[in-house]
Amino acid sequence: MSKAIQAIRGMNDCLPSETNVWQMVEEVLRRVASNYGFAEIRMPIVESTALFKRSIGEVTDIVEKEMYTFDDRNGDSLTLRPEGTASCVRAGNQHGLLYNQEQRLWYMGPMFRHERPQKGRYRQFHQFGIEAFGISTPDIDAEVIMLSARLWKELGISEFVTLELNSLGSSDERAAYRDALVAYLEKHEDKLDEDSKRRMHTNPLRVLDSKNPDVQAALVDAPKLSDYFGEETTAHFTQLKTYLDNAGIKYVINERLVRGLDYYNRTVFEWVTDSLGAQGTVCAGGRYDGLVGQLGGKDSPGIGFALGIERLVLMMTSLEKANNIRPQVDAYVIALGEGADLQAINLAEQWRDAVPSIRIQNHCGGGNMKKQMKRADKSGAQVALILGEDELANQQVTVKYLRGQHEQQSLPLVQVASLLAELI
Ligand code: ATP
Ligand code: MG
Repeated sequence: MSKAIQAIRGMNDCLPSETNVWQMVEEVLRRVASNYGFAEIRMPIVESTALFKRSIGEVTDIVEKEMYTFDDRNGDSLTLRPEGTASCVRAGNQHGLLYNQEQRLWYMGPMFRHERPQKGRYRQFHQFGIEAFGISTPDIDAEVIMLSARLWKELGISEFVTLELNSLGSSDERAAYRDALVAYLEKHEDKLDEDSKRRMHTNPLRVLDSKNPDVQAALVDAPKLSDYFGEETTAHFTQLKTYLDNAGIKYVINERLVRGLDYYNRTVFEWVTDSLGAQGTVCAGGRYDGLVGQLGGKDSPGIGFALGIERLVLMMTSLEKANNIRPQVDAYVIALGEGADLQAINLAEQWRDAVPSIRIQNHCGGGNMKKQMKRADKSGAQVALILGEDELANQQVTVKYLRGQHEQQSLPLVQVASLLAELI
């Protein structure tokens, strides 16, 4: 036998035993997005490398070391998208969706980053994202955050996530702060690790969210970005907090929250959990008022977030929130004896016509009662509908309940559709 080919490290199959949780989560994401008036947009998975360099930033982790970049056959540099916002803005600009307009959009799909695979961190992973364009007032910031909060509520995990909130100010405010921060970091250089020393000059704000406790200790007396805020930034942030307070959404201000992508300004936030171990951020986002212009469009403000679907699915499973998801099949049809299979196929079709959302699996491949019952049980169905010679002669079906304590019963064929309707 030749050696079997394996999947690429960090790129996972989603097996049938897992897809039902995925589908349930995806269904909630879609529904809640439309509850807030957001419409779906679908972008290609491959884009020009320049798009991500220009938007995410040359000296970010993503662009420096995580992108899957390759030359197309004609020599163009292409990249498997590491995130969705840049593509969404590119698409919006290209199709004139953003010019003097408001848009509320969502997307969902695979993203690619060459990271070290571990629990909650993969090389192909999936994000659901929200982007709202054309509105600069903080009511839309609140609306976007409230949408995310509703997702946790619908999924039953609100009590396991915490909202961290910060403002990054305007680019001018950040530039002034950056100078003060670099001066401070230079004075404390001996207490920084190699990573932070390197970032000190390339991307100093990233030093603030270093995971190293020694670096964090060295930052205790560092200057604060909020001391550099002008009136507008302060008013925007205060108003956002008022909206959230009013909506009863709890948050923790984290002045060290800076995010790993360069395009953010003003509002940034993350939803974090301690039920996932090291990979604690489930959802992250913020405002990016300069990005549309930076990518060649007429300036238009924007705010959004992206959440990691794998991390959500992991949470749902580990917190046992995914136990009551309906199995793939509601009813399993068993046919025994001469000609029963032919009738079973027809009847199953009639029942599917009568109850459009019913999931009926018809036994195929023959076999005795024992074999067919075993399959019925494995299918996860609630009932087995048994069609044997006696049943068919009497225009009946035997209903055997596979879950719970119900007695087996004989039912006239004409009543089967109403029984099936009750199962869903
Ligand atoms: P992290 O700090 O965990 O690396 P990030 O800041 O790089 O996250 P974002 O770019 O903000 O992440 O992406 C938003 C969300 O996408 C994250 O909060 C996370 O849930 C998910 N995510 C990011 N990278 C990965 C990955 N490699 N595997 C699985 N999920 C991921
Ligand atoms: Mg990352």
